[in-house]
Amino acid sequence: MDRALRHFYKKSYEEKLEALELSGLLDPKECDQLRNQMLDLPHEMGSHMIENFITNYSLPMGLGFHFLIDDQEYTVPMAIEEPSVIAAASFGAKIIGQSGGFKTGDDTRLMIGQVAVENVPHMSEAVQAVEKAADKIVRLANDAYPSIVKRGGGARRIEVRTVQANADRTHDGAEFLVVYLYVDTCEAMGANMMNTMLEGIAPMIQELTRGNLLMSILSNYATEALVHVTCAIEPKYLKTKGWSGQKVRDRIVSAWQFASADPYRAVTHNKGVMNGIDAVTIATGNDWRAASAAIHAYAAHSGQYQPLTRWHVADSGELIGQITIPLALATVGGSIGFHPTAQLAHQILGQPNAQELAHIVAAVGLAQNFAALRALVTEGIQEGHMSLQARSLAISAGATGDHIQYVADQLAQAPKMNLDTAKQILSDLKQ
Ligand code: NDP
Repeated sequence: MDRALRHFYKKSYEEKLEALELSGLLDPKECDQLRNQMLDLPHEMGSHMIENFITNYSLPMGLGFHFLIDDQEYTVPMAIEEPSVIAAASFGAKIIGQSGGFKTGDDTRLMIGQVAVENVPHMSEAVQAVEKAADKIVRLANDAYPSIVKRGGGARRIEVRTVQANADRTHDGAEFLVVYLYVDTCEAMGANMMNTMLEGIAPMIQELTRGNLLMSILSNYATEALVHVTCAIEPKYLKTKGWSGQKVRDRIVSAWQFASADPYRAVTHNKGVMNGIDAVTIATGNDWRAASAAIHAYAAHSGQYQPLTRWHVADSGELIGQITIPLALATVGGSIGFHPTAQLAHQILGQPNAQELAHIVAAVGLAQNFAALRALVTEGIQEGHMSLQARSLAISAGATGDHIQYVADQLAQAPKMNLDTAKQILSDLKQ
């Protein structure tokens, strides 16, 4: 870690900006933009982005540290309203970094689109006709969006499947012929380019199948864009007050087994993973609804909703953590190119490409999960949360400036930590 950034959390806001400048992560102009709150989305831009715009909705963005991924260290911007998430991610990453950091998989990245046809008169003949025309369909898709082909991407292949809907009291159980188009969208998430390609091939598919075209649309279930990140933690780094490293390691594995057996726990386990994933996805201007939809569907791909991470003990005694998730993130497209804070986030990350960004995001999810499990199986989650929660309560009670930390410190010692107590402390202070 750059010396200037050490103990970042202890610095005043101005000292933080100076450290960012000294470390070279940001230049003086970018620091000035932060200092003077100039990165707010201009109203005119907001009006063009969405309908019926009235104002911006702000989220705080902070930095996660110690992310050593494939031997390269990253400082990770995270946009989130929940206290303690960034501290926990950084803490988890620091311990993982002491054991060599995160390693990423050799992953592929293709987006999937669907053209669905119904009322097909002769299903097996239709499937054969589409399969026979596969090369032609791929060419047609590429002709519909030539610029992505010029960039080295484009449609790669198709698959044809029949999909049978369940019959029930109100539905007759329709059968669909579905063409799956696999596209390399390069640095973009590719929703719009995919939809353009699908609309380009849809008339041909309708003609070949003699059915009725139902829809042509990207699938957010990005199973051809799976990312894999692992870590191996030496037990000596897991030791806490009162718990040996081996004991903590084994309890983390038990916590994972519990989550894999009980969806009530798995959902909360995954909520913690998503704390990190969403925060970076949002900070980098990516479509977090798309990422969340895909990730939760993938959590249930075995038929039972499962934890997104996996923890086990290696023969060497190390604690092995793994995460595998679909993540079709982008470094261009959507609002990424013009949203001022998203641009700053990519700059802080060192302008990774789309695949590197997905690995960073998955690593943050794994670090987040590790920190949460470690806390849960040792001192419990509340001890770490309380001081940050106290600050939120102090702000909610109306404290500003130096009063925030004063009220938070008093709250931490009060018999009841709640909003009434915070208000009382603040009113006593002001008298
Ligand atoms: P865009 O429509 O913005 O397309 C990407 C743009 O980036 C293209 O104009 C492309 O240029 C340009 N580009 C520049 N460099 C590259 C490069 N290296 N690789 C790839 N493209 C490059 O974005 P997407 O098609 O990615 O769509 C994402 C947006 O769509 C998001 O805002 C998302 O919220 C939204 N969306 C999502 C849906 C879903 O998830 N189901 C559905 C509909 C919309 P060129 O055209 O010259 O190739």
